[in-house]
Amino acid sequence: MSTHFNDLPWRTAAEAAMQTAHQRSSMARHIILDWIACSAGWFTTETIVQQLVYQQGSVSRPSVYRTVDWLRAAGWLVRLHGQHVDRTYVRSLPGFQPLICTNCGGIQAIAAVDLGSVLAPQLDCVGFRLRSQCLEIYGVCRDCQQHRE
Ligand SMILES: [Zn+2]
Repeated sequence: MSTHFNDLPWRTAAEAAMQTAHQRSSMARHIILDWIACSAGWFTTETIVQQLVYQQGSVSRPSVYRTVDWLRAAGWLVRLHGQHVDRTYVRSLPGFQPLICTNCGGIQAIAAVDLGSVLAPQLDCVGFRLRSQCLEIYGVCRDCQQHRE
């Protein structure tokens, strides 16, 4: 099963989660959520700062960083560590694993995989205790595959 991201559902669900977590609702937060919901593919926090703080003057730099930090910690954004995407984020949903198209930058998602349980037997064999894991899945989406044929 895969789920195509659609901006509005992400925007609505992320904002509802922030309200449930008693995060203060502000105009700045609305503007930042709108920006992220409309972004295509991955982005950096500094891209948001450049556009919303320096070009539009609509929000403050700390507001951008606080919002991105909260969204990442709650699973609404995932930070990437790949060679060409270091320090970038993609939209996600708590409990889901983003799939990143390297052709168009589009994001899809599947239910998150618990690598710890998959790797447990091998980790036990070498006496390694897992503290954290990082899985990034890159590939080519169906639309891009069809346009290449
Ligand atoms: Zn694609």
